[in-house]
Order: sequence, then structure tokens, then C-alpha cells
Amino acid sequence: MRKPLIAGNWKMNGSRSETRELLAGIQHGLGEGFPFEVMVIPPYPYLQLAAGLVKHDGLVLGAQDLSPHAGGAYTGEVSGAMLVDCGCRAVLVGHSERRSLHGETDADVAAKFRAAVQIGLTPVLCVGETLAEREQGQTEAVVSRQLERVLQAAGIVAFASAVVAYEPVWAIGTGKTATPAQAQEVHAVIRAQLASEDATIGGLVRILYGGSVKPDNAAEIFAQQDIDGGLIGGASLDADSFVAICRAAQ
Ligand code: PEP
Repeated sequence: MRKPLIAGNWKMNGSRSETRELLAGIQHGLGEGFPFEVMVIPPYPYLQLAAGLVKHDGLVLGAQDLSPHAGGAYTGEVSGAMLVDCGCRAVLVGHSERRSLHGETDADVAAKFRAAVQIGLTPVLCVGETLAEREQGQTEAVVSRQLERVLQAAGIVAFASAVVAYEPVWAIGTGKTATPAQAQEVHAVIRAQLASEDATIGGLVRILYGGSVKPDNAAEIFAQQDIDGGLIGGASLDADSFVAICRAAQ
């Protein structure tokens, strides 16, 4: 019912030639038909280049962030309309590196989510707890609060065209992965929260797991009932690893 989605967040990595090489490797590895959706999320300067190289409808181009504003005097910002113009269909919102390194608040994230939905981009809303929050038993409360702020600002109907990514901050880029059971527990909480507003949307929304997913742990994680794929950082920079992770979602 829910088509698996594997998204590769390239972060601030690559060059024009590496973008060409990585996309060629991914597309060669995926072949013509695949029963899942794949998203690549290069840095802003390479979006247009990537858009011209994507050959398959099942391969979606996404951006790593967007401005909450539609346009105007916001130096350094990129609007949702510009992303659409460059060929993007999706955008990350509230990645933990934006929250922790750039001070994005729940309110900022909610405004960006709304801006994405309004312009027709699929927001991939990232939520997740820090290690300290997990150790204090606050995982559920933190994730529910992050989700609630967006629900209040955008409404449940906006989630019909959104994706949620559960990314425990302590698992991002650390080599530590949540166990499949730990991840499933939080995914079920997220789905229940959305379903309590609208059962159909809660049942249909795709919830990805992110945090040190690799070819050797992907299948076990993706096999969980409420896990619909992954948001991949480090391993998405190697075409063979990324394709192997995609195949684990089959
Ligand atoms: C991420 O940055 O969203 C991520 C999950 O990174 P990694 O796979 O490297 O942990």
C-alpha cells in the first residue's frame, strides 16, 4: 500500500563531476524498473545539473532546505518556487543539522513545511531526539512535540502529500543505529499521532528511518511494519552502497 522511498541526502558534498558520476552510478545500478521510489538530494548549486541527468520518473530530485518566504530581500535564501523551477519535487525540512547548527526552531520548521506544501513540493519532515533526551526517557515527547507544531501550523491534510523521517540525532553520522525495534516503536508513535487526526492520512503517510543506515542493516530496519524506507546520509555518496540500500526496500 505504501511504496517504499529511499532518499539520499548528499549534504555539502560533491562537485559537478562527482554529481554526474554519482547519478550515473545510481541510475545504472537501479536499472529501468524498480518497485520503490528513490530521491536524491544534492546541494543547491548542483540541482539543475542533476535535474538534467535524471532519466527515470521514479527518481525524484529533492533539495536540502528552503526559505519560509516566497521571495524578496532574504540574502542567501532559496525559495520553494526556485526549487520547483530547478526541477525539484521534494525538500527536506527540519533536518537535525539545520536545527542544531543553524538554530532552526519548531516554529521555523513549521513555516518551511507550509511553504513547501503551498508551492507543491513534498516536504520530508525530519524529527528526532538527542541522546540526552533519549536517556531521560523523552523520546516520544520530543518527537510528538516536533510533529505537533507542524500539525498545528499546516493541518493534517498537508500530510497527505508529505513524508516524515524519524532520525534519532545520536544515530546520524555516528555509525550507531537504532535497533529495528527501537525505530519501529517511534514510527508507530508518529503514525498513531497522525492517525488520531485522520486515520486515512495516518495510514498512508510514509515514515522513513534515518541514522547510519548501511547496506548490511537496511533490510532488517525496512522490514518493520511502520518503516517505509530510509533517509540516507553517508552511504548515499557511494552509488553501489546506495543502490544496495534501495534494493533492501524491495
Ligand atoms: C542524515 O543526515 O539524514 C543521515 C541519516 O546521515 P547518516 O546516514 O550518515 O547517519
